[in-house]
Amino acid sequence: MAKRRNAVEEFCSFCGRPESEVKLLLPGLAGNICNDCAERANELMQEQLQAKFRHRQTGDLGISMSNLPKPEQIKEYLDQYVIGQDEAKKYLSVAVYNHYKRLAQDPDDEVDIEKSNIIIVGPTGTGKTLLARTIARLLKVPFAIVDATVLTEAGYVGEDIESLLTRLLAACDYNVADAERGIVFIDEIDKIARKGDNPSITRDVSGEGVQQGLLKLLEGSVVNVPPQGGRKHPEQKMIAVDTKNILFICGGAFEGIERKIAMRLNTHVVGYGTAGARLSREDRERLLHFVAPQDLRAFGLIPEIVGRLPVLTNLEPLDKDALRRILVEPKNAIVKQYIKLMAMDGVTLKIDDDMLDFVVEKAIEFKLGARGLRSIFETVMMQAMFEVPSSGAKEFRLTREYAEQQLAQSMFDTAISAN
Ligand code: ADP
Repeated sequence: MAKRRNAVEEFCSFCGRPESEVKLLLPGLAGNICNDCAERANELMQEQLQAKFRHRQTGDLGISMSNLPKPEQIKEYLDQYVIGQDEAKKYLSVAVYNHYKRLAQDPDDEVDIEKSNIIIVGPTGTGKTLLARTIARLLKVPFAIVDATVLTEAGYVGEDIESLLTRLLAACDYNVADAERGIVFIDEIDKIARKGDNPSITRDVSGEGVQQGLLKLLEGSVVNVPPQGGRKHPEQKMIAVDTKNILFICGGAFEGIERKIAMRLNTHVVGYGTAGARLSREDRERLLHFVAPQDLRAFGLIPEIVGRLPVLTNLEPLDKDALRRILVEPKNAIVKQYIKLMAMDGVTLKIDDDMLDFVVEKAIEFKLGARGLRSIFETVMMQAMFEVPSSGAKEFRLTREYAEQQLAQSMFDTAISAN
C-alpha cells in the first residue's frame, strides 16, 4: 500500500494528500484513491466516454441500405405476431424503414431527411403495445416503452419528462450515441391531454406542462437525462442526450374522441354533435377511421405536439373473428403455448373448436377484449395443468363443456363482476 513520510499514514496516490486530510481513502493494489479524486475520475470518464461515442459512426449499429428490412418485410414480421391492424402496420413499417434510412444517410448530404414521429389511436387492448414490442424485437436500434401517465411537470410528484430517455439509455447500456438513434414508444399519451380550456384555474401538472416538456424532446434538442430516472436533483450527474434522431411512437386510447370526430365531420345523423348523445359501437368504430390531427387538438393535445406527430393512424377494435384468430394464429398464440406446455409432459392437447368460441364469447361478455383471452384460458386450464402431468395420460381433450364447468367453478364471473 502507498505510504509516504510517516510510515503509518496512508496517502492518495493521485493528489498526494494524507488520509487525515481526506474524507475517505480507498485502498487499491498498488496505491490508494481519495474520495475527491475518485469523483473527479468518474466525471472525466463520463465526459470522455460521451465524447468518444458521440463521434462514432452509424456503421457501429450495423445499419446500411443493403441490410435494411424493407417495409413489406417489416409488415410480414408484424403479421406473425399481431392479428389485423393492417393500416397501422403499414404506417409503422414505413416509419421504421425511413428511420433507418435517416440513420444511414450521409451527414454531409444537402437533403436532410426529417423524422416523422407517429401517433397511434385505438381502444385499449387492441395491440398498440404489442405492435411496439414486436417492432422492438426486429430492430437493430435501442428501443424503450414508457408510460406517459407517470410524467409530471418538474417540481411535482412524479417523474421528470427527461426520464423517458433513461429507459432508452438503459436499453443500450448507457451508450449515448446508440440511444440517440433509438425509438421510444410513449404509451397512454392521451392521459396528458389538457383537461379543460382554462388551465389557469387549477394547475394542470400532468397535462399541458408535461406536453410542453415532451415537445422539447419531440422537436429534437439536447436534454440532460438523470441516469437513474425519476426526479432530477442538483447533485446528480446528468447525461446529455440529443433527441434529434430519436423516433417517437405515441399510442393512446383517446376515449371519447369519436365525438370530436363526429362534430368535425358535422354529420347529419341524428344524435351526433349533441353532447349527451350515445354513439353505438359501430358508429364509434366507423368514426375512428376518420381521425385527423384537429381531433387530437380538440381532445386536448397542444397544437405543437400534434404538429410534431405527423403520422397519424388508428387501430381497429377487435371483433369476434379477430379474437378467435388471436387465440390460435400468432407465432406465440396462447393455444400454441399450452400445446407446447403439455407436450413437454408427453401429453397431446386437443382443443375443440367450440371451446375456443366459448373463450371468445366470455372475453366479449366480460368486456375484456384480447387481454381477457389469456386470463380466461388460464382459468380453464388450471385444473388440467395441475392434474395431467402426474396422471400418466397421453392425451387431453379440451371441450366446451369442460371449459364452462371450470370457469363456473373458478368463480371467474364473480371475480370479474366484483371489479
Ligand atoms: P394496448 O392497445 O392497450 O396497448 P396491448 O397491445 O397491450 O393493448 O394488448 C394486450 C394483449 O392482447 C396483448 O399482449 C396480446 O396478447 C393481445 N392482443 C391485442 N391485440 C392483438 C392483436 N391485434 N393481435 C394479437 N394479439 C393481440
